[in-house]
Amino acid sequence: MIFPNGFKPKKSLGQSFLISDKIADRLVNALEIQSADNVLEIGAGLGILTTRLCRRARNVYAIEIDKRLVPILQDKTKDFRNIEIINEDILKLDWQKFGKLKIIGNIPYNLSTEILLKLLECINVWDIAVLTAQRELTYKLLALPGKSGYCATTVLFDFYTERKRLWPIPASSFRPSPNITSISVQIKKRPSPLFTDIGFDIFSEVVRASFKQPRKTIANNLSLFLNIEKTRILQLTKLDLNRRAETFSTIEFCQLTKDFMKIIQIFDETYKI
Ligand code: SAH
Repeated sequence: MIFPNGFKPKKSLGQSFLISDKIADRLVNALEIQSADNVLEIGAGLGILTTRLCRRARNVYAIEIDKRLVPILQDKTKDFRNIEIINEDILKLDWQKFGKLKIIGNIPYNLSTEILLKLLECINVWDIAVLTAQRELTYKLLALPGKSGYCATTVLFDFYTERKRLWPIPASSFRPSPNITSISVQIKKRPSPLFTDIGFDIFSEVVRASFKQPRKTIANNLSLFLNIEKTRILQLTKLDLNRRAETFSTIEFCQLTKDFMKIIQIFDETYKI
């Protein structure tokens, strides 16, 4: 494929551009855009999704780190007034300033983990996201306990969101084509978090500590990383903490967090003057 203005893709930026109009239509449809919605696009590239977004959304914020792509994107979107092309690193950008968002992106391989963390961090600003990425990333979002890919991120996303696998996208739909099949996932924020009686911060701390060394049992991880004696941890709950975190369901982590909060209260009372 010949790129505009003699453009040469950079592998280091994960530049692999979608070339299928049909798939671009389907991805944009999956974002369920209403005319009042604003959309943030992660890595706009050559703009195959961007023009479609402009036709549907109120405002489109197309984020692209590679400044060589900016004039190409400007040219592609010259007929639209509702586009802002922002030449910045998506991870450094302040997402809060845009108000409520829908988020779409064909995510570069090397950024995917950080982008998931950013999505969690900015959970208050978006309600739906459609991500296309390598299989491993989507497994992280979709895995069930005990299955490949199940990790702290899976559990943390489950607290706030429901995830749906959309379609595999063959490598041949991208140029230059990567050597992997990508998968698209729709992530929808739940109307209210899965548990309303525990805070996300403490839940997140318990989940992350439990997964810290995945080969260790939860009891060992919690003891090590929260600096509480193991015997105390085992007394804390009826749950079997001699299991590994990868076997624990979100509901079990919720129960564990509640039991864990008791011990924090006891600590607080002990140290109360
Ligand atoms: N959405 C386009 C491009 C996908 S390739 C398409 O589907 O064709 C990924 C894009 O992300 C590239 O254009 C790359 O330059 C951009 N990118 C890579 N790292 C980025 C970062 N940190 N912030 C913003 N954009 C980034």
